[in-house]
Amino acid sequence: MPNLPENSQIIYRVRVAVPVHLYDCFDYKVSEEQYRKAEIGARVAVSFGRQNLIGVIIEKLPEDAPLNPNFQLKNITELLDDQAIIDQKVLSLLTWSAQYYQFPIGEVVQAALPTMLRQGKPYNLLARVWKVIDLAAEDKLKRSIKQQDAYKILKLHPNGTSENILNLSGVETATLKALEKKEIVQFLLEAQNFSPEPVQMAQMPLTANEDQKKAIQHILKAQKKYQAFLLDGLTGSGKTEVYLQVMQEVLKQGKQVLVLVPEIGLTPQTISRFQSRFHCNIALLHSGLNDSKRLQAWQHAQTGKASIILGTRSAIYTPLPNLGLIILDEEHDLSFKQQEGFRYHARDVALYRAHLENCPIILGSATPSIDSYHLVEQGKLTKLELNQRAGVAIMPKIHLIDLKVARKNHGISEQLIEEVKKRLAKKEQVLIFLNRRGYAPVLICESCGWQADCPHCDAHFTLHLKPYHHLHCHHCGTIQRVPDACPSCNQEQSLKPIGMGTAKVEENLNLLFPDHEVLRVDRDSTSRVGSWEKIYHKIQKAEPTILLGTQMLAKGHHFPYVTLVAILDIDSGLLSVDFRAPERTAQLIVQVAGRAGRGEHKGDVYLQTLVPDHPLLNTLIHKDYRAFAKQSLKDRQLAMLPPSRYAILLRAESRNQDENLSFLQQMNEQLREAAGDLIDIWGPIPAPMERKAGRYQAHVVLLSTDRAKMHFYVRTWWQNLLHQKASNMKITIDVDPQELS
Ligand code: ADP
Ligand code: ZN
Ligand code: ZN
Repeated sequence: MPNLPENSQIIYRVRVAVPVHLYDCFDYKVSEEQYRKAEIGARVAVSFGRQNLIGVIIEKLPEDAPLNPNFQLKNITELLDDQAIIDQKVLSLLTWSAQYYQFPIGEVVQAALPTMLRQGKPYNLLARVWKVIDLAAEDKLKRSIKQQDAYKILKLHPNGTSENILNLSGVETATLKALEKKEIVQFLLEAQNFSPEPVQMAQMPLTANEDQKKAIQHILKAQKKYQAFLLDGLTGSGKTEVYLQVMQEVLKQGKQVLVLVPEIGLTPQTISRFQSRFHCNIALLHSGLNDSKRLQAWQHAQTGKASIILGTRSAIYTPLPNLGLIILDEEHDLSFKQQEGFRYHARDVALYRAHLENCPIILGSATPSIDSYHLVEQGKLTKLELNQRAGVAIMPKIHLIDLKVARKNHGISEQLIEEVKKRLAKKEQVLIFLNRRGYAPVLICESCGWQADCPHCDAHFTLHLKPYHHLHCHHCGTIQRVPDACPSCNQEQSLKPIGMGTAKVEENLNLLFPDHEVLRVDRDSTSRVGSWEKIYHKIQKAEPTILLGTQMLAKGHHFPYVTLVAILDIDSGLLSVDFRAPERTAQLIVQVAGRAGRGEHKGDVYLQTLVPDHPLLNTLIHKDYRAFAKQSLKDRQLAMLPPSRYAILLRAESRNQDENLSFLQQMNEQLREAAGDLIDIWGPIPAPMERKAGRYQAHVVLLSTDRAKMHFYVRTWWQNLLHQKASNMKITIDVDPQELS
């Protein structure tokens, strides 16, 4: 062993992914005993510089691996796990992700761990599982509806249900404690030795229609091997039923199913839909859980005790010993892409994971992304279409209202008001959509034209009247009071709000329809816990109501009594410069429209616009989303934009825009020299919103048809950049960017 100094002992070493913003892993010394015990994928406590950090072993160095004699290796502080907590497949997935997204491996590995494990807390944690002990207690619960409901749910699962799941089904811990006092239920502290009940069907599957049958059979043929499917079917066409029937077969074989949904798609309804079909242990992984519950759910997934893992974006990195199927619902949703730090796209990571795990994956959507249609064209995704609405419902019809000629009352066209009146008279519900919260998007001085703008951003303040009058910047969070007089011309009472946010529309609707309740759903009106649930409860009753809201209303929910959907203003999306804006707008229109007529009543959609001749709107209305998507893909191919070429976006951010631009310019030259024509370089240019929170942003877009080669060049070039930039400049890299801002 030539590398070892003479008569020295063997130095045992492990390579550790340490959570620091550096692109390397670091080697640490371990004792012989630790070396024997240490597994790849286990956590270690280490000291790094002056910090104590928790890292993950990603390699055990061979005993004779060369040693740098000039470098003083440190010992690890402690081996925290006596076995791997991240399995080899997920480690490969993480390593691949770090490479692909050009992000430090140590920080990427952290993304896969629940907070408590990141903090170095012990792996073995006890959690409560509640179980019924009195099976005939109905009579004792007459006085409390809450307890009756809880009891019903608990009885469905004779082997016990984790508190986590119960809480999410609306059962409060206090209710469980009350039942415990009456000696109706008890809890077990569950750790490693808890064994979940076998998966049981709790409900018969529906009889699949022809399209569903074809899709199910096609997917099931691919069991036990990698194949990626795009399930393309309108809202209500029965996609979820397809998922459930495919899941049933996979679960029957004792395998796990990972279901990923968008951030706001994980509603109590989604959960109960899975729960009422299958009696099995479901692990929920989303950001709303507290740390110990999240750890508990993660452990159920990671030990194979959970059969269904239902989660948002980051759940894609959960270790699953028996993974048999991945489902990613609403695959077009932007929340699958992390927009800061480690900017991964859960959809692309999921495709790679299915490939590693050798299992099928289903991407489902009513409005598939243009990216996915491109993959279908390339033969990388198999498209399965559902063309009927599955239940009794029929597709809503879209009508345009030309705002240039329409007569208006309180900002809403007379025609729309008439239609709303008709529905309410028939005791039906209407949904009014406006993707702008607050009272007014602009506050202007009528006397001199001054506008209330955020001092830190290139943006207007939004005027809010509640809970008190204030100006709020939705980009950086700055809050200011509303001036009494115009700060520019000192004129009093000259400041006037322009345009409408949801709060203003609410006020107007209350004036127009004084006899009907207006339920507003946006981030401001639902910030209190439980308020959205309360509203939701009301909507489920067959009473004539006006539902008003933002994006929060657009997705996933089922509103059986809504027969009219009104989209008040979507023009900014139609007129935006971002080449993906038309796609997003079309998706939003179709998703919002999909809320109408899901019950037995035919639905109508009214769309107010100043640009009724816009080609996108017309393709959508006279043809459909698929025709629009096909045209968009063609347009992008002609313009050589993604997905026909691969993109990487580089952002520079500092207090000085000239420095940003000249740094990026210099960097471009280096890249051009290395890569020649292989990479098309656009920029540097100022970002669409040039100044945000007091910092200027500029960017460069790199485009190439050869992804592998572009990534190869960028990898070396990018890390070089980090060494050359000034310390007060922040640069970030965004591989396959979804937004150019
Ligand atoms: P999606 O997920 O595409 O929005 P769902 O699976 O939620 O569609 O189906 C919409 C409605 O139609 C649901 O109420 C569902 O129970 C019902 N449904 C789905 N498939 C069938 C079927 N084969 N027969 C009868 N009803 C169905
Ligand atoms: Zn003024
Ligand atoms: Zn601001």
